[in-house]
Amino acid sequence: MLGPLFRQADLVIVGGGPAGATAALYAARADLDVVVVDKGLTSGALGMTGRVENYPGLPAATGAEIVESIRRQAASFGADFVQAQAIGVDFSGDPKTVYTSRGDYRTRAVILATGAMGRARRVPGEDEYVGRGLSYCATCDAAFFRGQRVAVVGGSDEAVEEALFAATFASELLFLAPEREPKAAVGLVRQLESAPNVRLLRGYRLLAVVGDGRRLTGLRVRAPEGDETVLEVSAAFVYLQGNRPETGWVGGSVRLTPAGCVEVDEHLETSVEGVFAVGDLLCGEVKQAVLAAAQGARAAIEAERRLRGRAVARVDWK
Ligand SMILES: Cc1cc2nc3c(=O)[nH]c(=O)nc-3n(C[C@H](O)[C@H](O)[C@H](O)COP(=O)(O)OP(=O)(O)OC[C@H]3O[C@@H](n4cnc5c(N)ncnc54)[C@H](O)[C@@H]3O)c2cc1C
Repeated sequence: MLGPLFRQADLVIVGGGPAGATAALYAARADLDVVVVDKGLTSGALGMTGRVENYPGLPAATGAEIVESIRRQAASFGADFVQAQAIGVDFSGDPKTVYTSRGDYRTRAVILATGAMGRARRVPGEDEYVGRGLSYCATCDAAFFRGQRVAVVGGSDEAVEEALFAATFASELLFLAPEREPKAAVGLVRQLESAPNVRLLRGYRLLAVVGDGRRLTGLRVRAPEGDETVLEVSAAFVYLQGNRPETGWVGGSVRLTPAGCVEVDEHLETSVEGVFAVGDLLCGEVKQAVLAAAQGARAAIEAERRLRGRAVARVDWK
């Protein structure tokens, strides 16, 4: 498809967030020749997160510091990190090929770990204030806004569940539902309505995220009557269309769910033998860095086993 062969490896991991970098750590330590292709430290979910307090062993670090620390550990065992964007694959043969903005990689196994930051439609101000009051994860960040007025934007079950969690910290929570009838389960919406510090604003559309240049200070919204107004909040948790799994570069080469998430079996292997997937690409119910890292470890162990011809796990619990 593209330019000349750039490099051959036992295992190519695409995405160097907590999932991919941990996979690299395990695979490199098992003496595999590992290449990690990543387009940028701060373009992943963890890499762009300002402060993280729940990653074991690394209290109160930035997300980028955590990712860098895992990458350094992986590199110390020989993993080769390449800054490039994966733009296509050919999984039809053996070896498989990963095409990137810096050349082609031939490999015997692949781990897909490109996360889920592919939100299609962003509003003005969103990119500027993400990590500075704007978040896509109340479970992760709501505790930073204790005693403050915050907003949740969305209408799904996930948005309502996250709002109920965020309301335990907030002085007041504004729930902005773009539709008059949120899509979430009726029972959940009732729970939201009966929370004493929650105001459910039905039919409000998010137009822009506003701030003072340093931090988010509010949301510009259109009320159902058509008036535009700015709601002052210290933080906003946005659940509009969700964050899409970053799978465009894989084309139709592995099986996806209707929502675009990568399908895997219990070994984290995709519909293509020797191609594994981990982290937010799988759209798990809980998105946490430590879980992504754990999946990375698991996939690397599975890939190593397959590459060395040990098909069956030998676990002796006795
Ligand atoms: C705002 C926010 C705050 C969060 N806070 C916390 C928290 O406090 N604690 C917690 O445990 N979790 C938190 N999370 C969740 C956590 O960050 C994710 O669950 C986790 O990062 C998923 O890991 P991942 O490796 O699958 O994806 P990511 O961390 O998104 O990493 C994906 C990597 O793939 C790379 N990539 C993407 N596309 C390509 C491509 N085509 N070619 C090459 N590279 C590519 C990106 O550059 C990135 O480095 C937060 C998430 C968000 C959005």
